[in-house]
Amino acid sequence: MFSAALRCPAWVPESARVDCISRAPALTLGVLSASVRLMSPVIEALLVLQDRDRRLLRLRSEIEAVPAQRRLLEERAARTAAEFDTVRHRSQQIESDRKKLELEVDTLKQRISKVGAEQQQTRSNDQYKAFQHQIETSQGEIRRLEDQQLGLMEQAEAAARDVAVAQKVAAEQKAESTKHLAELVVREANLRQELTVVEADRVVQAAKVEPAALSKYQSVARKRGDSTLVGVPKGVCGGCHMQLPQHIFLTAKAQKDIPTCPNCTRLLYFSSEMD
Ligand SMILES: [Zn+2]
Repeated sequence: MFSAALRCPAWVPESARVDCISRAPALTLGVLSASVRLMSPVIEALLVLQDRDRRLLRLRSEIEAVPAQRRLLEERAARTAAEFDTVRHRSQQIESDRKKLELEVDTLKQRISKVGAEQQQTRSNDQYKAFQHQIETSQGEIRRLEDQQLGLMEQAEAAARDVAVAQKVAAEQKAESTKHLAELVVREANLRQELTVVEADRVVQAAKVEPAALSKYQSVARKRGDSTLVGVPKGVCGGCHMQLPQHIFLTAKAQKDIPTCPNCTRLLYFSSEMD
């Protein structure tokens, strides 16, 4: 019922990814009994309990990873929006510079017109030449400003293209992030729902374990997490991989007690295929 929504989505990068929940079916006493015959009931019950604890650890770890995944999506959208803002601001700045030049040209044209009028009215030859010089200087300045305007117009065209691209990218990223954020909400809800189910089941499974064995398991589990009860294939500890002393292996094999590994303190169990 949860499988589709619990898979790690493809957009989650390796750095933010935690182990996705195994979709392997939950261990049950029935499944165990069929696959590992001749195992003591207490070991069977502990293996089921350990399976629930593993699932709980994975579920909690996936739930803990959700805020980082959410931040990542929000940051992506914010980054492309900021890039769009930067490009748009540059385009606005070019337009504002261009208008400033236009105003300067207008002012110069007005000055030329005013000086031209005064020039027409003067009778002094020297003054006439001085007005003429002013007019030519202003005309030269207008040409210089118009060249700058042309340069800015080219920049404005390029900036407009950049703005269009950045706007498209930002809109696409925003839509994608929104979609993935919505998926993440569903995913987190499903994870929490499964967590509740497995937590309840864990209580049921724990009640099936003989109290002394349960206490021993829980004490080791506090240090060893999801690898508390391990097999002894060929007399080797399935947790730390050290060769076990013969008497410990034989104790595990006899299944009358649950020995601990002298090296890593994990609980040891034996099943027929480990001989
Ligand atoms: Zn060990």
